[in-house]
Amino acid sequence: MTQAAETMAGGCACGRVRFTATIADDEAYLCHCRMCQRATGSVSIAFKNLPQAKVAWDSGPDWYDSSPIAKRPYCRECGTSLGFQFKEGPNMDLTVAAFDDPSRFKPTSHFGAESIHRQWISTEGLPENRTDQHQGLVDRWIAATGKMPD
Ligand SMILES: [Zn+2]
Repeated sequence: MTQAAETMAGGCACGRVRFTATIADDEAYLCHCRMCQRATGSVSIAFKNLPQAKVAWDSGPDWYDSSPIAKRPYCRECGTSLGFQFKEGPNMDLTVAAFDDPSRFKPTSHFGAESIHRQWISTEGLPENRTDQHQGLVDRWIAATGKMPD
């Protein structure tokens, strides 16, 4: 397991919001609470918790008050959910998949266990289909741009 502190970059889907974070370890977690499910449109959301002081916003983000106790960074142009932060307190969460390379992180716990949708937890063994082998998707990309996205 990699434990060296590392500077990692990330941002939203359209590239308007960018951040640089100093990451101390690989630990991350899945939040299943209903507010995160609603805010991200996902059955759960992978978060990396870290001190706010370790996050530098190079451009953006936008923020909205998601409850009386918390606010969430996002991109108003493309809608990407970028994290979660209590209004008071030193830490915050960044969405794992917003990092340019999310592969470092590993889930170490679940939060919001009262609203876990258990049928989505263990998906090992289900058919695994690649985007570059889905002909309808490939044909659309080739027609629109001449190539598949990186
Ligand atoms: Zn964006």
